[in-house]
Amino acid sequence: MNIKKGSKSLLKNLNRSIVINMIREKGPISRVVIAKATGLERASITNIVNYLLKKKLIKEVGQDKSSGGRRPTFLDINYNHKTVCGVKIEAERIIFGLTNLRGKIISRSEEKFPRGSKSQEILELIIKNIDRIIKSTNLLGIGIGVSGFVNLEKGISIYSPILNWKNVDLAKPLKEKYRVPVFISNDVNTLTLAEKWYGAGKKYKNFICITVGEGIGSGIVINGKFYGGAIGGAGEIGHICININGPKCRCGERGCLEVFASDYFLIEEAKKAIAQGKGEFKKPTPKELLQAAKCGDIVAKDIFKIMGRNLGIGVKNAVNLLNPEAIIVGGERIDAYSFFSPAFKEAVKGHSFPEEAKKLDIILTELGEDGWIIGAATLVIRDFFKLPL
Ligand SMILES: [Zn+2]
Repeated sequence: MNIKKGSKSLLKNLNRSIVINMIREKGPISRVVIAKATGLERASITNIVNYLLKKKLIKEVGQDKSSGGRRPTFLDINYNHKTVCGVKIEAERIIFGLTNLRGKIISRSEEKFPRGSKSQEILELIIKNIDRIIKSTNLLGIGIGVSGFVNLEKGISIYSPILNWKNVDLAKPLKEKYRVPVFISNDVNTLTLAEKWYGAGKKYKNFICITVGEGIGSGIVINGKFYGGAIGGAGEIGHICININGPKCRCGERGCLEVFASDYFLIEEAKKAIAQGKGEFKKPTPKELLQAAKCGDIVAKDIFKIMGRNLGIGVKNAVNLLNPEAIIVGGERIDAYSFFSPAFKEAVKGHSFPEEAKKLDIILTELGEDGWIIGAATLVIRDFFKLPL
C-alpha cells in the first residue's frame, strides 16, 4: 500500500517537474501547447498549473491568438518570485551577486580580504555580506564557486592551493544559518555552467571553457552535459604536464601547464627581463607587463606571445583528447587576449589532429566577470528546476 502511495506522489512530482521545465524552456506558453507537447491529460495540466500558480512559481501573461472560443492565457515562470545568492571566492576577494531565477543579476557587491586569511575569517565575511544583500528577499538558495577540488555532495572544499585550504566545510554552517540549499562547486565549473546556460556556450554541445589568470582551469561540456569526472576532479588542465623537467608547480609536481602560462609565468619572465635591464616595465606584475605591451614594448609583447604558445600547447592536448566544437577562453588574463591569442590559436590549431579538429571555434566568454556569480547561482537554479517540487 505504501509503495503504491509513494510511486503516486513520485509521479505527481515528476509531472510537475515536466510542466515547469516545459514552461521554463518554451514559455510564455499556453496550457493547450503544454498538453500537446507533454502528452499529459488536460485535467492533470490544470491541476499542476493551479498548484504552480498558487505557489507563485509561474504566472499568467498575455493572451494567445485563438481560433475561436475562450482565449487561452500564456504561462511563464515567475522569475522574480525568488532570489538566489551566487558567491565567488578568490585569493584576495569575494564577489557576491543576488540573481533572479533566470540568473539575472539584481545586485552585486564585493569584499576584499588579506591573502592567506583563515577559512573561518572568510566564512564570517561571506555571512556578513549575505546578511546584507538578502534583506527582505525570498531566498531560494546559495551557490558558491571556489578554486580547487571540491566535494560537491558534501559541499566541502577538499583542496584549494590558491587559498591554501584543505577540507574546509563551507556548506554546513551556511545551511544551518539560512535554512536553504547550499551548493559548492569548483569556480571554473560554475563559469562553464553560466556560459552554457546564458553565454558563449549556448550554441555548442561540446566545448571546453578555459580560464587563464592566477591559475589555469577548465570546465568540460560533452554532449550538452557538464562533465565532472568520477569524483568531480575533471578539467584540471592547469596541472597537465608540459615538461617533466620543468619548474616546480604549487601543486607539488613539476612542469605543469600552470607554470608555463599562468600569471606565475608572466611574473617570472618579467623578473628575468628586469634583471637583464630589458623591457619598459618597472615591476614584475601582469598589469605592468600589459601596460608596457600596449605601449608597444617588444619584450612585454614577446612574453605574452610565449605564454600564449605555451597555453596553446596545453590546450591542444585537450583538443586532441576530446575533439570539442569550441574553446571558450575566460579568466582575469583575457585583458591581454589580443597579445597572447594569435600564438595561442596557432599552437592549438597547428598541432591538432585530425585535420577536421582544426575547424574548432576559439572565442571569448560572453558574461565577463559576472559569469562567475551567475554560474554559482545557477547551481541552485539547476537543482530547483531539476528536482520534483
Ligand atoms: Zn601543478
